[in-house]
Amino acid sequence: QLKNSTKNYAFHEESVTVNSRERYQIEKDIIRAIEIEQFKLAYQPVLSPYTGKIEYMESLLRWEHPERGYVPPDVIVDIAEETNLIHALTNWVLESAIKQVAQWKRQGHSLKVSINVSPKDLLRDDFLSVLKSLLEKYDVTSNHIGVEVTETAAMIDLDKSKKLLEQLTNIGVTCALDDFGTGYSSISLLASLPVAKVKIDKSFIATLGEDGPLDGGVDNKVIVQNILRLAKSFKLYSVVEGVETMEQIKLLMEYGCDYVQGYLYSKPLFPEDLIKYLSNHKVS
Ligand code: C2E
Ligand code: CA
Ligand code: CA
Ligand code: CA
Repeated sequence: QLKNSTKNYAFHEESVTVNSRERYQIEKDIIRAIEIEQFKLAYQPVLSPYTGKIEYMESLLRWEHPERGYVPPDVIVDIAEETNLIHALTNWVLESAIKQVAQWKRQGHSLKVSINVSPKDLLRDDFLSVLKSLLEKYDVTSNHIGVEVTETAAMIDLDKSKKLLEQLTNIGVTCALDDFGTGYSSISLLASLPVAKVKIDKSFIATLGEDGPLDGGVDNKVIVQNILRLAKSFKLYSVVEGVETMEQIKLLMEYGCDYVQGYLYSKPLFPEDLIKYLSNHKVS
């Protein structure tokens, strides 16, 4: 256990300055990992804090590297983006998530899945057609699928991003703006993007429910309350991630947050463990 966590830490430290030789090695490992199905997806439930019912599952990439140990998804995605492997990686994620939805269906659970996509995915010309053909292949309907994009992603090429999000929305895919509040032109972007949902970044939630700042800085409560108000005024569903305490939940319900996600409810789980969770939680 200890050995493992030290390893993770070391990787994290390294990742800031992973040298080109090492990046090249990881790049080769990513290619191989896709081939031999070494990646996995974990799923974390997003629920209504009012009813406790599951709204959907967010898929999160997991990689237990045989020598390096656990490699965090943001490190994988970062290298994959730089080397254009992101295309193949996202295709793998899409197929794996859609296959899982089909499997859940066979097990009697009608679950939706929300997939994280990268900035570069929004610029692809074949994203929609790949998604459509996978839905057909596994006999899954598009209203079971969501995508989560970040502000920075949309800002690379706003027109192109908008067009794809519109096309996705039109076929019934739920689009969400992820990590909201951490970027730049948040409000104007939120107003102009065809998304149905906004996810408030967990950095705002960490100190929610604790005493206000002693240094006179802006209280996160005020920020969260205002983002939720903003979402409501744009008629968007709100999701707050990183919820870890009952205190936070109480406040979020008071502020009218629609959905929550976090360790308080469940960690991201592999399908075999999720089945147990599903046996005593209702799906909306
Ligand atoms: P994200 O989309 O903002 O995902 C939320 C992160 O918060 C996840 O970290 C999740 O495990 C973590 N989390 C969930 N509940 C809690 C909580 O209560 N407390 C705390 N402290 N953390 C919580 P993870 O799995 O390490 O993913 C990190 C990022 O990597 C994601 O951030 C997402 O941007 C990216 N990512 C993950 N999977 C994929 C993928 O398949 N494709 C792409 N393009 N990016 C991915
Ligand atoms: Ca996300
Ligand atoms: Ca986030
Ligand atoms: Ca993120």
